Amino acid sequence: MSETVENIDPSEIAKFEALASRWWDENSEFKPLHDINPLRLNYVEQHCGGLAGKKVLDVGCGGGLLSEGMASRGAEVTGIDMGEAPLTVARLHLYESGQKVDYQQSTAEAFSVNHAHQYDVITCLEMLEHVPDPSSVIAACAKMLKPGGDLFLSTINRNAKAFTLAIIGAEYLLKMLPKGTHEYQKFIKPSELSQWCRQVGLTPIDMTGMSYNPLSKEYTLSSDVNVNYLMHCKRNEL
Ligand code: SAH
Repeated sequence: MSETVENIDPSEIAKFEALASRWWDENSEFKPLHDINPLRLNYVEQHCGGLAGKKVLDVGCGGGLLSEGMASRGAEVTGIDMGEAPLTVARLHLYESGQKVDYQQSTAEAFSVNHAHQYDVITCLEMLEHVPDPSSVIAACAKMLKPGGDLFLSTINRNAKAFTLAIIGAEYLLKMLPKGTHEYQKFIKPSELSQWCRQVGLTPIDMTGMSYNPLSKEYTLSSDVNVNYLMHCKRNEL
């Protein structure tokens, strides 16, 4: 994509702006994010060898569920997002939680200009399926990681099962998410994600599914990467 055009879809940002006031309400549209938050936080912590004292960037941080979680585990966290309302909510919530996170309005690409090789850990969760060019976000993350640093990505796979569960199931039948939250064409196959990572000096080393059981209404980490999944990559040495 052209360097002068930012990698942002305004209609995607608008969706999150409209819902932002309910971000920390566990019974709102953000319930799925609340439900998966402890699972993914533990995954990040275990796979990066501990968050305490690490310099962490959370890309597309939204209202700050993961950013605050990582700060509570002792990381020095910066959260970036392009949504103004989510960032306002995230900043206000710090008064309630007493956590410390530096929230800034930026894309990953713009932030990478002045932050090359600064971070031990970068997280970019549930965000890539909302941007026009996800590979450009991954390239910016690769640039901002220290050599040997850890990148965590999560998104939704693109296949019939993902369409049925993540769109028909979650948006239309169970009404867990507002209709139109996700667009099928923007879902990303693990093979595509891995290739974008390898192209920019990142080595994928683990992939784990996040599966929802509609009967128990619980999420678990699983080996089923057909719908929601997490990927851990390491930044190659320079
Ligand atoms: N990562 C958070 C929030 C996910 S929701 C979590 O998992 O808890 C997706 C977020 O990505 C929204 O807050 C939206 O504003 C943000 N976003 C979408 N496109 C973006 C872009 N190009 N740059 C930065 N943030 C973006």
